[in-house]
Amino acid sequence: MVAYRQPNLRQRTYRRDLAQPDAVPALLLSPLFSASRDPLLLIDARQIIRALNPAASALLGFRAEKVRGRVWRRVFQLERELAQGWRRNPIVQCLHSRRNQTLAKDTVLVCEERRIPLTGQVLNVSAGQKDMVLLYLNVSVESAETHSVSRRNEHEMLLQHMSRLNTVSELATGIAHEINQPLAAIMSFNQAALRLLAEEEPDVDRVAEALAEAVSQTQRAAGILERLRSFVSRHELHFMPVAINQVVINALTLLSSKLTETSVRVNLRTEPCPPVHADALQLEQVMVNLVRNAIEAMQTTPDDMRRLQIATCSLAGQVHIEVTDSGPGLSASASRQLFTRFFTTKADGMGLGLSISRTILEAAGGELSASNSPAGGACFRITLPISSTEEVLSGKHTV
Ligand code: ADP
Repeated sequence: MVAYRQPNLRQRTYRRDLAQPDAVPALLLSPLFSASRDPLLLIDARQIIRALNPAASALLGFRAEKVRGRVWRRVFQLERELAQGWRRNPIVQCLHSRRNQTLAKDTVLVCEERRIPLTGQVLNVSAGQKDMVLLYLNVSVESAETHSVSRRNEHEMLLQHMSRLNTVSELATGIAHEINQPLAAIMSFNQAALRLLAEEEPDVDRVAEALAEAVSQTQRAAGILERLRSFVSRHELHFMPVAINQVVINALTLLSSKLTETSVRVNLRTEPCPPVHADALQLEQVMVNLVRNAIEAMQTTPDDMRRLQIATCSLAGQVHIEVTDSGPGLSASASRQLFTRFFTTKADGMGLGLSISRTILEAAGGELSASNSPAGGACFRITLPISSTEEVLSGKHTV
């Protein structure tokens, strides 16, 4: 698993509220609450942790008094591994709807540098006028890990499939050119046959020769089409609200072993962003392309200097993502041709990754640009318009 460096957390406490007599329902402070082996946290409507049992404090690695009175997001995050699409945070959802929520199977609790797969529930335990939720967590490492591995394999296959499809669509232009050649040949052999037949005493053998050539060219064209058909199966794009921070996490999860093998340190600076309207898998492919390119660019960078920084934020109706590496940066000729199909400086490169990425982003109304960072490495910038559903416009949803 990648060691993500989380952004500095502002430490805000609300200890004053704890002095209020009805702040915590008495039942939850009973011996049962403390004795439970499962981690339990009581969170109020302002998302402040009111109480936690010893199992929760052991899970988070903090003493209870360090955590009590702080906004839960500043202590830990609940992330989804390889999730697609937009889903409201279950704690927020429970507070909002007053309905119990079950944590999705791929939930990961992120606390400092640790990522702990777990299951659990968010229970509505509102006391009187006070809205409260009880976060009940269940850390069954073995089953969570097994789930996580099979989910990752499944997801990798999906992504590989998507990548093949994108490659094909990019290659389609080239293939159209290839098909044009046999078509032109068929046309001229047939015209020749017609001309021969129009002669007073047609030479049947030559006519047959011309037609045989036309048949073989037809077979050639059919062969090209058949190869293409077996390579592509039907795929429809699924445009939906997508959480961009989740896309980043998915890409890093998929490339985690490559990042570890190549000693690349990841510095993740994500800010809560509203969803964008796009095909989640396609965006993931863009992120995978950019991260993979960054890893490859840093091959010649000394091990201890290999840094990949990914930053996200939302500004002026757009979500921005920056992927910056500490490699040699873009040469002048690469800068000019980066997005040109088939431009590559790699021995085994296809030169399609960036042009595919740009096509994907443009289809979602976004942009991809690149420049060198002041520190010297390459910096790729993505902008995508924020999804314009009503919920999002009301500013309620950010992850
Ligand atoms: P490929 O990876 O197959 O070469 P791409 O379209 O992804 O195809 O990239 C095209 C070229 O852009 C690469 O061969 C490389 O020269 C340059 N490039 C891409 N990313 C970076 C980067 N992070 N740093 C320096 N050069 C890069």
